[in-house]
This record gives sequence, C-alpha cells and structure tokens, in this order.
Amino acid sequence: MRTRIRGVRVFDGASTTARTDVLVDGPVIAADDGGPVDAEVDGTGRTLLPGLIDAHTHVFDGGLELALRSGVTTELDMFCLPPNLARQRRLAAERDDVADLRSAGVLATAPGGHPSQLMDAFGAEEAAALGDGAGAFDTVAGAGQARAFVAARVAEGADYLKVVVDDGALSGARRPTLDAATLAALVEAAHDAGLAVVAHALSAAEVGAALDAGVDGLAHVFCDAAPGDPAAEELAARAADHGVFAVTTLAYFEAIGGSDPDHAHGDAAGPGDALSNAAHAVRVLHRAGVPLLAGTDANPFAPAHGAGMLRELVLLGAAGLAPEEVLAAATAEPARRFGLTDRGRIAPGLRADLLLVDGDPTRDLAAVGRATDVWRRGVRLPLGPSGR
Ligand SMILES: [Zn+2]
Repeated sequence: MRTRIRGVRVFDGASTTARTDVLVDGPVIAADDGGPVDAEVDGTGRTLLPGLIDAHTHVFDGGLELALRSGVTTELDMFCLPPNLARQRRLAAERDDVADLRSAGVLATAPGGHPSQLMDAFGAEEAAALGDGAGAFDTVAGAGQARAFVAARVAEGADYLKVVVDDGALSGARRPTLDAATLAALVEAAHDAGLAVVAHALSAAEVGAALDAGVDGLAHVFCDAAPGDPAAEELAARAADHGVFAVTTLAYFEAIGGSDPDHAHGDAAGPGDALSNAAHAVRVLHRAGVPLLAGTDANPFAPAHGAGMLRELVLLGAAGLAPEEVLAAATAEPARRFGLTDRGRIAPGLRADLLLVDGDPTRDLAAVGRATDVWRRGVRLPLGPSGR
C-alpha cells in the first residue's frame, strides 16, 4: 500500500515546511519517487505531524485504543503489573487500531511507599477497570535488593526503570520512601542493565534527591515552588547541570482537582496552586535548557488517554512555550530521550506513525484536536468528518 499525502504543511519534529508531499510506503515513510500510488490524500489546509508520544501514562484495557483516536501513536507507560503489561503488549503488536507502548513495568518503591495507598484504595470496580492493575507488587526494602529488583524488571521486558521518591509530605500523609543509598543502587543496577531511569518526584526536595541519585529523567515537574520562589531557578539549574529531561504532566496537575486527598499533592495551598506552580516549573526548566517531554499521567480515570494529551499541549502553550516547541516535546524529543530511533520525526525510512489535522498547529495548538486521519505503522485510521 502506497499513499501520497499531497500539498500538506509538514512539521517534521523540528521545523515546518509550508507545502510538500509525503509518501507512505507500507509501514514506513519513504522518499517520494513520484511513482504511482494506491491512494492520495489532499493535504490542502492541513498539517502533518509525527504521531504524538505521551511520555507518562498508565495503560489499561481500552486505553491504547483511546490514545490512538487522539493521534497518540506511542505511550510510555510508567507503571504496569506484569499480566496487564503482557496483554497490552500483545494488543500493540497484533493490532494497528491501538497506540504502541513502552513500559517501566513494576516501579521501584519502598514497602508501603507511593503508590501502595492508591492500589489499596481501589475498589472492585476500579480494579476491574485497571485490568488486574491493582494488588500486591514487588517493592525494594534496601540497597541490597536493588540488583535483584532490576533483574526481575529486565526479565519482564521493562524498557526503562521508574523509581519513586515521594515521602508523602506534599499530600500531608507521610509514607515510606526509597533512601539515598537504595536510590543510588537502583540507578547503578539499571544503568548496568542498559535501562534509563525515570523518577517520580513532586517536590523540589524530592527532585533534588532524584538528581543526587543520578536519574536520567523526571516523570513530573515539581509543583511546590511558587512563582517568585528562588528554589525553582536553583533546582532548574541543577537539573540542567545533571542533563536530565522532565516530563511535564500539567494535565495531571489540573486533573487532581483536589477532591481526592490521596491524589492531591497541593498541600494546604490547594490543587489550583499545584497547577500554577507546575506551569511555573515548566517555564524555569525550559529557560534553564532542560529538555521537556509532553506527558499526561493518563490513567483509567483522569486525565484520559489521548484527550489528556491534547489538553497537555494546550497547557504547555499557555505556560509560555512556542507551538513548535510544544509539538517537538510531544514527538521528536521523547523519541530521542527514550531511544526510539524509528519514530518521532517525519523522514524517509522512519515508521509511518503520522497525524493529519485541519489547520495549523504551529500557530494554534488547538488544531491538534482537529485530527482527520492517523497512520499507525502505515495503517490509516480515518477520524474526523473531513477524513472519511
Ligand atoms: Zn504516573
């Protein structure tokens, strides 16, 4: 199957071309040889983007399908139990109407540490929605257990390691968390196994501990430094120095909304402040040169898979990033930081994971929500009224 998308504006992951043709040949993007094609798509007034990569999700039954329908062609899962992960991987391998995924598998946390309180709190209905995502899971009681823990994740096929640095201070409910020695041992074992390490850390102090341990990325931006607090600039400079990336998850800070204290990280300041603080963190990290990756923390509840990513892009624009910077944070940047060399850009030879939208998201990010078609591994899924 050869498809030519004609006369379309292209954002290739880094820069924009006003009007060109793009050839999809089987599962890949090809150099256009001008030869015959099986189908043509009129790109007039539309923009072609690399398929979106949501750099922080939690997969569950139905999630990957929802994601693809909003143009998210790859999800980077940050915690998933083995039976669920095996099922989602099988889906992603066998079907082209669902997003692809990479996963941390079981995250590393202290016994009784975050997110044990969430797992324990899930009722039967929520556990069913999670698809056996709830229940007991491996934890790490000390540095001596780090190597065995990482070896078990490697055996499960984890693509990277997620570590939890969260003492509960921000939610007002103290919890056990990994100590410095255990964190350092986990990072060392993961790096020896060829796995990058991403840290769940929400406060400036927790992010500091994650940086000290040598992690490669942050799964959230910090949310406890208000505009005007010099701690944000100092921490951003340290993060830049360490060469880490940060996943933004503004949609998550917006979604926690405050009703559920187990999910709220806003302290007495309240969740509204968590979002404005997080948006401030995005700005200072960006100014400091820390690579930002768009991610949502999508889960079975809120933010939703797919739709949450569209919201994330708008929130990043509102935080002050230019539209092309936001689009790169949702495509080329996560691909680069997670070693996904076959996607995230539009170039010959790369996997044909593509998103076609009405309008020009390089000027107005809301246009990403006006998708007409998505291609996943070269298979076209018409979406909007104008794409049918
Ligand atoms: Zn998460």
